[in-house]
Amino acid sequence: MTALQERRVGDEVLFYSGMKFVAKARILGLLHNRPLAEAVWGVDKNQNTWEHVMALGDIVELNVPAEPILRGLSVRVPLRSLTLVRAEGRRRFLNMVAPSSQPEPTRPATDPTGPEKPVALGRDDLLRALASLKTHIKEQRPSRHKPITLLWAIGRLAGGKERMVDWETFSSEVAPLLKEFGHPDSRVTPEYPFWHLRSSGLWSIEGVTERGSTPTPSQLASSHARAGLGRDAAKILRRSLARADSIGLLCSTYFDDIDRDKLLDRVGLAGYARASGEIPEGSSGAVTRSSVTSSRPDRDPRLVEHIKGMYEHECQVCGARVETRYSHYSEAAHIRGVGKPHDGPDELSNLLCLCPNHHVEFDRLAIYIDEDWTVRRNSTGNVAFELTRHADHVIDEEHVRYHRGLCGRS
Ligand SMILES: [Zn+2]
Repeated sequence: MTALQERRVGDEVLFYSGMKFVAKARILGLLHNRPLAEAVWGVDKNQNTWEHVMALGDIVELNVPAEPILRGLSVRVPLRSLTLVRAEGRRRFLNMVAPSSQPEPTRPATDPTGPEKPVALGRDDLLRALASLKTHIKEQRPSRHKPITLLWAIGRLAGGKERMVDWETFSSEVAPLLKEFGHPDSRVTPEYPFWHLRSSGLWSIEGVTERGSTPTPSQLASSHARAGLGRDAAKILRRSLARADSIGLLCSTYFDDIDRDKLLDRVGLAGYARASGEIPEGSSGAVTRSSVTSSRPDRDPRLVEHIKGMYEHECQVCGARVETRYSHYSEAAHIRGVGKPHDGPDELSNLLCLCPNHHVEFDRLAIYIDEDWTVRRNSTGNVAFELTRHADHVIDEEHVRYHRGLCGRS
């Protein structure tokens, strides 16, 4: 029943038979329609039918042994019923159930030198592609070449730089990132993401003809090859909400065990490490501290007093009220940071009254507010608290959604 109730459009469904996953599909629509279910499946001897109807698409056949994955997810083997796997669990095993667990196939019959294909890429397609990058698996860990390169490319876009770059520029900028943030035992080979990212559908290459193997650095240099985000992907990533979603998703999917603040800083996306957008100390990113400070709009101190008064300094997350000698203390937190890069508004609908601890946790993306106003811990997805909301405090759900995107929870 939990699995039935908590399904959402966009969730992935795996079909299981004979101890194997045999197909996967995506939920495109959910219906609760008894007449339709009866028409399709009839009724059983107790006049019951299967009225929770799922419309599925993007069906891919698989042949993946299920046992290691199920055991890894602490699901009883063999499976007996509909089972829900939460996003964080799914991410750990994503590469085992993606058809991409095989080595990179070479794509025949495409001409990378020709014009980009006029396939309209949507925001959901982009996020799906980012979440399921084909990566080489070594000791159960996906290589980080591609996600690092994509973050770098998003950083260029956010910094207003050119979308396509030549091989020399690419190599000089991406190689140090691969060295610093790739797996220690992974070789630094910028030609690999330069060339193979094209299979993601988000990447574009000019100047090199299709070939069976990865071109060597000297071949890329002599052919004056250029690469970068595809036009459609770049168009979507110029929008702030999709950009926040993408950065959050890449970080939570591929960079769980490295210093994400540092990586985001290196690619010029330091502001995305925090909900407030304020740049961590000692940042050397593309966004300079002075430009952040000067572009920060003035905050209205009356709003700050208003929200603190409304909640009488009680934290909306935990209910704690920090006592001082003569009064109480709380902090007003913007849900979507005002100023760069988030550009949230300074309005009551974008403010929370928090205790200092929860202010830090919210700002550093350790907790997020879910669609049902529960407060969840980002590392586990578990509910930690229920957000307190005053009847006169209308919180704009779009800002909460933006924050969830930064948390990789969109
Ligand atoms: Zn609190």
